Amino acid sequence: MKPLRRKWARVSLVLHYLGWGLFVVVSLIFGELLERDFNISTFGVGMLGVGMVLMGPVLWRLTARCPHCGKRGGPLSWVYLKAYCSRCGHVLPFDDGPIHEEETPLNQRPRYRLKRGWARLSLAVLIAGLACLAAGGLVFELLMPRPQNEEELWNAIETIWAVRDIAAYTFLAGLVLLIASDVLTRRRLKCRVCGRGLAAPWQRRRETRWCGRCGAALVFEDELEYEKT
Ligand SMILES: [Zn+2]
Ligand SMILES: [Zn+2]
Repeated sequence: MKPLRRKWARVSLVLHYLGWGLFVVVSLIFGELLERDFNISTFGVGMLGVGMVLMGPVLWRLTARCPHCGKRGGPLSWVYLKAYCSRCGHVLPFDDGPIHEEETPLNQRPRYRLKRGWARLSLAVLIAGLACLAAGGLVFELLMPRPQNEEELWNAIETIWAVRDIAAYTFLAGLVLLIASDVLTRRRLKCRVCGRGLAAPWQRRRETRWCGRCGAALVFEDELEYEKT
């Protein structure tokens, strides 16, 4: 059985948080200084930060696979913590963890029902956020004038600033929505058995996912059942 590698979990986490740091510190706090004194594009550095924020979890998905069912990704942590696969519910083996961890049989685990309305809302906000990120990128790519000489540059300078602002604000709105979706998921789709694991907003009706931290079964209430109560 091939264990998940702690090394990749750490690289993903570093990439993710370094990206956030880069984005916040460089583009919001020292942005003007960078542009004026070092002639470094704040927009470029901000985008690099956002790219790294997204690359972290992508890298983890590419490098980590559940040896039982092949699901990619899984709980990310810096040091070993007992973690369960959300799809098959078995304990995930890590290269720095115990060789054999005890686990409760799947049918004896506690079941917890979550309200589906919150999942829908969180998913809608997530999709809106991703759409804003894509729209910001597209505006920048498609509408940005590309002046060939100095005269053209001066004629286009106002358009350049306007396009840059629209792209940056759309992008920022996208990030705010992604954070809102994350906060909503963490507050409303939390496993009540252990208070740490989370259900996924994109989890389908009647589909069971296993809490990554305690292995409890997380299911959404059926629509009809929900209306009845
Ligand atoms: Zn699995
Ligand atoms: Zn749990």
